[in-house]
Amino acid sequence: MKILLSTYNFYNKQLNTKETRKNIINNLNTASFINNTGNDTVSFGSKTPAIFINDLRDLPDLPCGCCGKKMLRNSVVNNFLNTKITYPAIIALKKLKAQQYFNESKSSEPMREAYAFLKFHAQKNPTLTVNELLSKNSVKETRRLLSPEASEACEEIRAMTKLVSHNSKYLTDEINKLKPDFHKTEKRVFKELSTLSKKYPDLNYNEILNLPNVYEKYLSNLQKKQNDILKQIEYIANGLDTQNRKLIKSLVKKAKVIFTEEIPEIHHKRGRVISEFNDTLQNMRDVPVIRKILNLIESLPDSKTDVDAFMIKGSQKNSNLIAEILLNRQRNTFEHVKPHHREGDNGESNIYNYIGLCGKCNSERQRTGYDVFVQKHPEMVENEQIQINKIIDYINNGILTGYDDYPVKIQAALDTESKGAIKIDHKKLNILQAKSNRKKREEMYIQSKKKQNSKKEVKIFKFGKGYFTRKK
Ligand SMILES: [Zn+2]
Repeated sequence: MKILLSTYNFYNKQLNTKETRKNIINNLNTASFINNTGNDTVSFGSKTPAIFINDLRDLPDLPCGCCGKKMLRNSVVNNFLNTKITYPAIIALKKLKAQQYFNESKSSEPMREAYAFLKFHAQKNPTLTVNELLSKNSVKETRRLLSPEASEACEEIRAMTKLVSHNSKYLTDEINKLKPDFHKTEKRVFKELSTLSKKYPDLNYNEILNLPNVYEKYLSNLQKKQNDILKQIEYIANGLDTQNRKLIKSLVKKAKVIFTEEIPEIHHKRGRVISEFNDTLQNMRDVPVIRKILNLIESLPDSKTDVDAFMIKGSQKNSNLIAEILLNRQRNTFEHVKPHHREGDNGESNIYNYIGLCGKCNSERQRTGYDVFVQKHPEMVENEQIQINKIIDYINNGILTGYDDYPVKIQAALDTESKGAIKIDHKKLNILQAKSNRKKREEMYIQSKKKQNSKKEVKIFKFGKGYFTRKK
């Protein structure tokens, strides 16, 4: 049965064509794995001393400006994806073979060359991930000696190593350590995954979701909900004339075919059903019954709001990606107050046009003006103020730097974009206090470093925004 394709076979099959391999790599590159901007580590000599935070996405416990949920720091999520999900290269490369992502005898010459190249460097650096290996200067230098094709193949292998999965017990335990303040749907999804991982600790999420008993349960739940909505639509359509009633009936029939007869590998079922309805009925929107039907069809369960839909979608996804999706919905992300892609009038990509929204709220807003958005999310008015208050606290305490003008400028931006619906009060901002606290933190930091280095013969000096040590 097609439903039962295991991920391994699924990807193995896919990886046979270069085109799909490329697609997977492109998908992964757009995923957050690649850019690790973690500034968590205290590294003396770094240009950004760890005493300060200079990115609002990295403020601890910042609540989302819309839903008010506590967000995961951006660097914490990046760090998790890069260090907890990705295996060290030496293990990942072995697992690529064991999990059949990479088959040496069937691979092209450049792929084999790239694999050998990475294996060689992995053996010399057994703790580093492929990502970390490839960003090492010495590795970069030798990589230049490879053929362009083999160098490109290194990228393919880098992407593949992200697919090497951990078992469900490990992933669940690691996610738990982050104590994410999940939204309702994600909380329930994670609870289900935790329960399943107790039952099948050695399988990964994808394998569990493809177990016949597990898969069938979520699928039948989902299909029941879909069916209920379609039934309601047919019932309401009784209020229409014969011709339109027939039209609705044929749309419902098409929807049932998509939901119950199409194989799982065909995606966007819900989206296609909704488009069918919208495209067919768009000229009849003023008819109240039609409007009701269009509203109902929009209420079909989707993976953002429905556990069963999430699980069915998840059964088609790599295990690591499932974890990433969950964390991304709780991650602190930059939200462009004035949308970045507004036709003819793009919002700027700088801090004065950013507020922090969790991934889930951010993906919901898109380009809607805040005056319209807050009608659906009235809690945003209060929660954005709570967020700004917290940011002001971080500025006043000398922790957040580079944001002294932020409260005033973001107030103006929010006022304009929301047409006065979101009014921010920034009276608590105290730049003098901020400056004095920053100085105190600097002094404390230098003192502690001096203490640490007292036995070593080093001198501490400041250059630009950073602190450096130099041998006396
Ligand atoms: Zn939110």
